[in-house]
Amino acid sequence: MTAILLFGIVVTAFCVLALNKVPIWVWAAFALSAAFAILTVYGGGAFVQFLLLAPGLILAALSVPFVRRNFIAKPLFDGLRRTFPAISDTEREALAAGTVGWDAQLFSGTPDWAQLKAVPPIQLSSDERAFLDGPTEELCAMSDDWDMRHNRRDVPPEVWDFIKDNGFWGMLISKEHGGLGFSAQAQSLILGKVASRSPDIAIICMVPNSLGPGELVEKYGTSEQQDYYLPRLAKGLEVPCFALTSPNAGSDAASMRDVGIVCEETYKGKKTLGMRVTWNKRYITLAPKATLLGLAFNLLDPDNLLELDKEDIGITLALIPASHEGVVIGNRHLPGGNLFPNGPTSGDDVFIPLDFIIGGRDMVGRGWGMLMECLAVGRAISLPATSTSAIKSVLRTTSAYARLRRQFSIPISIMEGVEEPLTRIVENAYTVEAARAMTAAMVGAGQKPSVISALLKYSSTERMRQSITDAMDIHGGRAICDGPSNYLQAAYQAVPVSITVEGANILTRTLITFAQGALRCHPYLFKETEALQDKNTDRGFDDFEEAFYGHIGWSLANATASMLHNFSGSRFAKGPGHVPETEQWYRQLSRASRSFAFVADLTVGILAGGLKTKQKITGRMADALCELYFLSAILKRFEDDGKPASDILIVELCARNSLHRFETALQGVIDNFPVRPAAYIMKLVALPLGIRSKPASDRLGKKVVALAIQPGDVRDRLTSEIYINENPEDITGILEYTLKLAISLERAEKAIEKAVRSGKIHRHYGSDWFQEAIDKKIVTAHEADDLRELDELINKVIAVDQFTPDEVIPHYKTDKTKSTSDKSGQATKEKQKNVAAE
Ligand SMILES: Cc1cc2nc3c(=O)[nH]c(=O)nc-3n(C[C@H](O)[C@H](O)[C@H](O)COP(=O)(O)OP(=O)(O)OC[C@H]3O[C@@H](n4cnc5c(N)ncnc54)[C@H](O)[C@@H]3O)c2cc1C
Repeated sequence: MTAILLFGIVVTAFCVLALNKVPIWVWAAFALSAAFAILTVYGGGAFVQFLLLAPGLILAALSVPFVRRNFIAKPLFDGLRRTFPAISDTEREALAAGTVGWDAQLFSGTPDWAQLKAVPPIQLSSDERAFLDGPTEELCAMSDDWDMRHNRRDVPPEVWDFIKDNGFWGMLISKEHGGLGFSAQAQSLILGKVASRSPDIAIICMVPNSLGPGELVEKYGTSEQQDYYLPRLAKGLEVPCFALTSPNAGSDAASMRDVGIVCEETYKGKKTLGMRVTWNKRYITLAPKATLLGLAFNLLDPDNLLELDKEDIGITLALIPASHEGVVIGNRHLPGGNLFPNGPTSGDDVFIPLDFIIGGRDMVGRGWGMLMECLAVGRAISLPATSTSAIKSVLRTTSAYARLRRQFSIPISIMEGVEEPLTRIVENAYTVEAARAMTAAMVGAGQKPSVISALLKYSSTERMRQSITDAMDIHGGRAICDGPSNYLQAAYQAVPVSITVEGANILTRTLITFAQGALRCHPYLFKETEALQDKNTDRGFDDFEEAFYGHIGWSLANATASMLHNFSGSRFAKGPGHVPETEQWYRQLSRASRSFAFVADLTVGILAGGLKTKQKITGRMADALCELYFLSAILKRFEDDGKPASDILIVELCARNSLHRFETALQGVIDNFPVRPAAYIMKLVALPLGIRSKPASDRLGKKVVALAIQPGDVRDRLTSEIYINENPEDITGILEYTLKLAISLERAEKAIEKAVRSGKIHRHYGSDWFQEAIDKKIVTAHEADDLRELDELINKVIAVDQFTPDEVIPHYKTDKTKSTSDKSGQATKEKQKNVAAE
């Protein structure tokens, strides 16, 4: 009994001290008191006394700053400084770009719920709302996906004009410069709605509002550049594109061979300081139609004309009119089945004056930082917006289709096999919209979330890919045969584009998200790294020492809390306390955050420079962080939506699956962690009882799907702000119209099915089974009329297109003498010039 009591007191005291991050002398006092207590009760020989008292004595010695400094911190600092891999300027810029916010809270292990609550819910100004309900809706209604994708491989002139005239390209350009000056939330919703109708048009609208030069000029341009270009960009008087990617520099864009050499030449009759630039870029969206080329290249100044006393100035960004002498532009790639213009551009020793540089002379060599900063924002808005709307759209169409499509005499939606992928689509629609809205609100509040934007980019596009594939499976052959009535193909074909652009997903997941997250969001690691790199060794050591001891206290607190929560089923974890419906999920999130923080800390501490290569570990850590972020967004969305009782089951389903995936990711890290003793510690602390969170049950999935396929509030909320119409002549409007009719005729439909099955009436081509049903008093004459209409509509809903042999001959010709290739990484520029001239 005494033993249990003593053990209880020691463990409780340990937890209290660890959680309160007490100073080292308190630990020394605790260790010595515990040792004396044990020795008093049980006694012991000299060796036992030594073993018990040693930790306390060591801690007591370390309480003296001189000892701590010279025997622990200094040797560690010197050792790490010698072995720590040098961080290049490019890496430093990439790491330092953007801001941290909720991601840092999750990394801390003790998320401050007030910060989550403070992120504003979706709010639009009256202008933004009017634009979303007006021109955006009109643009959607104008778009004829098949005509654009198949007949034209282009957007019709009237759609180009509508986009430009209504300012779709100037959403992020301030009103002062002639743009719409819309919030991030509005831009996200507008792009999303357009994407729900035509992913291609969304891409055309997206580029000028993302890395297209507009954002760069708005943020970094000289006042002359802003005054001249921004109003022109906002009104569509310029067609912009931005060229970063080269054949030899894709994901590793910073290694580009494109180069500019500073020189002085006569330009427009005047002696002008400028650069001779040579570039070879590919995959550039809008390039074939561009009038204004944004270009990234490495600037060299061998003659020190810029007087910066260095030859390698660094990556520099310029704005070059496409009509400028020597600019080669105009050919097209064919990116899958997508129609948006995309192609290469090149230039050979083209002279451009220095004032073509975005931001002018002051910004030479600062291009990489500018790109990273803009990417952090762009990536948080554009691709999450289009991915979310794709998921919501396929939920809307697929749930209707599954309810209307019957096989084996029942709607396929009620077959469990179909219910499973439908459940995933519902979950993705709720979760990804929650994360999209929360992130857009953060950007609107001035954040530039680099880590969140990376995790949201890869996870939202992956979930879109999963949802579209699920939708295709549910539609069967109906989705495979392309044609004017196929509403899934455009989204399906756009998937690989979203996966690849703005940081290809594999790289973004495995290389960027966790490594950057750890360095930026960890409360001490960035400080420690900075201190180790500091050229002033004394200052570096002081900063390092402070951060290092803070780090130890923080790790101990997380380890203790994580174990406590894992063993107690999160009973002592803290939620915000103001939302009883979701308090249990907040507490689970709190526990998970502690576990994540501890495992992340050990992972970074042990792998250090190896983080770049141990990508299967970092990829799983990124997935774990992603689940924590999504769960936060889910809980926030429920509150922002006004806590609708009907959504609580969806929240439960999403939360259960999220926690299960989180634990699975963490388990994967532990099972594969290369340093096994560390893996055992991780397991003991983070998953001592293994994976305890079970995924949502089949029954819960069934209930959720039932809510989502029924016209009403839940379905509308799940698919909010996408283009929806009820025109039976429209490609998707017919689904809405027919679904409502089918639901109103459910009883009569069932009666007919029963009669067919029992052989009372015969449903064959050539027989009038509706009349038969009236005659046999199975349905009324009125019902039969409606059922006839429903039958005709369903036949249209399930119909696929067919073409004459002439129609399937490719509508564009490939002349092999004209196609150019960059197979060797060297575009044949003369050939390109000839083609452009023709
Ligand atoms: C349709 C389309 C539109 C585009 N629009 C533009 C545009 O407007 N402007 C522009 O400048 N660029 C544009 N791009 C280029 C795009 O940004 C690049 O395609 C992208 O950066 C990937 O480069 P890559 O295709 O050369 O693939 P690679 O870099 O060859 O990558 C191949 C694979 O390897 C993975 N990988 C690479 N390095 C690592 C690593 N260190 N760790 C783990 N995995 C890694 C990648 O994730 C990818 O899966 C566009 C591309 C496409 C297809």
